[in-house]
Amino acid sequence: MKVLKFGGTSVGSSKNINKVISILENYGKRDTVICVVSAVGGITDKLLLAGKQAQNKEQAFLNTFNDIKEKHIDIVKTLNPENSASILKEVEEKLNGLKSLLEGIFLINELSPKTSDKLVSYGELLSSYIIAETMKNRGIEAERKNSQELIVTNSNFTKAEVDYKATNTNIQDYFKSDSKTVTILPGFISKSKTGEITTLGRGGSDFTAAIVAAALQVEQLEIWTDVSGMYTTNPKLVKQAYPIDKISYQEAMELSHFGAKVLYPPTVQPVLSLSIPIHIKNTLEPEATGTIISNDEVTSTKPVKGISNISNIALLTLEGSGMVGIPGFSKRLFETLSQEKINIIMITQASSEHSICLGIEEKDAENAKVAIDAVFENEIALNKIEPIIIETGLSIIALVGDNMKNHQGISGKMFSSLGKNNVNVRAIAQGASEKNITAVIAEKDVKKALNTLHEQFFESKTKQLNVFITGVGNVGERLVEQIHQQKKFLKDNLKIKMRVVGLSNSRQMIFAEEGIDLTNWKDQLNQGEQASLQGFFEKTKSLNLRNSIFVDVTANKNVADLYAQYLRQSIGVVACNKIACSSDFENYKLLKRLSLKYNAPLLFETNVGAGLPIIDTLNNLVASGDKIHSIQAVLSGSLNFVFNNFTDKTKFYDVVKQAAAEGYTEPDPRIDLSGVDVARKILILARESGVEMNLEDIENKPFLSEAGLKSDSVDDFYETLITDEAHYQSLYASAKANNCQLKYVAKFDQGKASVSLQEIPEGHPFYNLEGSDNIVMFYTQRYPKQPMIIKGAGAGADVTASGLFADIIRIAND
Ligand code: ADP
Ligand code: ASP
Ligand code: MG
Repeated sequence: MKVLKFGGTSVGSSKNINKVISILENYGKRDTVICVVSAVGGITDKLLLAGKQAQNKEQAFLNTFNDIKEKHIDIVKTLNPENSASILKEVEEKLNGLKSLLEGIFLINELSPKTSDKLVSYGELLSSYIIAETMKNRGIEAERKNSQELIVTNSNFTKAEVDYKATNTNIQDYFKSDSKTVTILPGFISKSKTGEITTLGRGGSDFTAAIVAAALQVEQLEIWTDVSGMYTTNPKLVKQAYPIDKISYQEAMELSHFGAKVLYPPTVQPVLSLSIPIHIKNTLEPEATGTIISNDEVTSTKPVKGISNISNIALLTLEGSGMVGIPGFSKRLFETLSQEKINIIMITQASSEHSICLGIEEKDAENAKVAIDAVFENEIALNKIEPIIIETGLSIIALVGDNMKNHQGISGKMFSSLGKNNVNVRAIAQGASEKNITAVIAEKDVKKALNTLHEQFFESKTKQLNVFITGVGNVGERLVEQIHQQKKFLKDNLKIKMRVVGLSNSRQMIFAEEGIDLTNWKDQLNQGEQASLQGFFEKTKSLNLRNSIFVDVTANKNVADLYAQYLRQSIGVVACNKIACSSDFENYKLLKRLSLKYNAPLLFETNVGAGLPIIDTLNNLVASGDKIHSIQAVLSGSLNFVFNNFTDKTKFYDVVKQAAAEGYTEPDPRIDLSGVDVARKILILARESGVEMNLEDIENKPFLSEAGLKSDSVDDFYETLITDEAHYQSLYASAKANNCQLKYVAKFDQGKASVSLQEIPEGHPFYNLEGSDNIVMFYTQRYPKQPMIIKGAGAGADVTASGLFADIIRIAND
């Protein structure tokens, strides 16, 4: 004998009902089958909605009723295209009964729990009837039995308690004589001893099946649903979740108690003592193995078996010095809630006994407050305790596993990974059995928290990075392409899953939570919504994804001004934009502080020397205890290009124009030629060496002509290069006469920094610096005489993009 239960989705359409029937037919060839069915998917909710509407005197209840009616009639007709008449007649009769009940509710404008149970019972009565009759129509030996005649409960409407003695006798008696191959039972519904319709609580069809399985002591209970088993976490919220092969009763109970809706929590109870395994299977994918819940020794040593969540939680806090050491407070508190029929989901009490914190369903919060404040009225009036505090908009998340008790550091890992992702934990509870660790967090953070914890405990080897890029000009475009090309390599070799979730240029922006398809990102971006810097931030924030990284590939001050906002949301910032790190020292310090406080990396390697690992090297020297004595560097790829190409045979104007055309200069070449760009770079290196310094503190001896320095537009500036050619030629001539090369040099020494054009003699490491290369020499305590030298291409879109890429990877490896 087999007991199977099919849930709402499994019987939610004629297509799925056909799948159910074929599974039953197959089983029926080998065994007697008892099949418990839910209402057609979504119908219980609709019945309750119609009831509420009728109670509120809203005519719309008729529309809702019509939806319910059409759905059932459509299913009957599709399932029985040739012989639906007799089924339809009965179904319509039942629907008429439902309509009269709703009209009654409308008239008296009242919906008691008792009437509500009567109302929802139509769902399962209809589905079970339709399925049984369809099977008969198709020549399969099937019978429907109304479970209300079998399952006896008390009168606790909407969630009645089972009288097992009477129920077991009824079930055993009935099935002793029933010899039908397949018996269809409506789930969820039952009858009180006094003969009134009751229900077993939302999701209760699972429970019906367990009651029947236990009464008949069958070998196995099968729960057929719309997913392939009990998953490591809610598969609707975490894409990477996967079905658990085997799980203990206790673990399954904990997971379902803390929100894994796939199994109604009381289901385990009747089958547990008889050691009847529960097999969770997928109606839509019957060949999938599913999950076995049993007492079998589970060989896996995984400490955490699953993660679950419950939404719509309120936290009640009762606190006050008057509670300390006085017995009876908790008793009165729990009694009050019990009288109000309010279910407590979690409890925490600090050892100081100064406060008790309870997690309950949000819908019960108001009632709870009124009742508790009334019970403790005296103590509140005497200031012994505070009026109860209620916080809403919360959720519970729980880690579950029998094996957690044998492992140290699970909660440490749980809370540090939540903290790293800016998930604020409001309350924590851990049972002494250590089968679960529970935390209360804001509802808005649930998806991020589940994904973070799932990654931590179930995908330990892979890390998901969610990248948001602003500025897809030359460098940004290369970055996107590099990410696209390297995607597979990163996943296979570095276990990094990188997806670009947001992209923006100055006109448009696009987002895709599962990652933008990078094969045609440009077309998508062209059709994107209108870009705005704040809008980009808001969207990034609201997506609230773990390991989010904002990448600034602009040279825009307004973008740099938003870093603080990103960091405060624990969103990492990677920038090639130099403005933030060379801005006022206070701002630089603030950003560094925020980065630490919110555990959000702030990386800007490409601010100096494009893709060269200059800042990283400097940071490593400082972190390992070295002291920076001085830095000498050629840090401007553009100026190096200019002075490498400028001779008495070329014109200064032409060379600068060429540098601009080849993309070596900033859009405004004055930023490079005035030395400001280099000054910013040496400032950043000085700051990273640990020195407090501002841009004004850097000595800048300009080499531009008077007119060039004063020009107030880019065009005017270019004009001065032509008119002042003699000035520039004289610089070249002097260097040549001294057998030197012109190099634009940045220095940091004894806490002071300067930038200037210098004549470099032969033999000096700078002398042969080619093209747009950069060079940095670090003289430090460990490298006092022979400096540590970093040299290589210091400008260009590809190397800059790869520097940004390297920063992103650094975050992943963090
Ligand atoms: P049925 O109607 O078949 O009883 P339910 O909707 O009650 O189905 O339960 C199945 C749903 O439970 C899944 O579709 C999934 O969204 C949700 N769910 C939540 N947590 C889990 C989990 N850990 N494993 C599987 N499903 C889960
Ligand atoms: N139909 C009921 C509900 O939706 C019972 C069930 O499906 O398990 O809650
Ligand atoms: Mg269910």
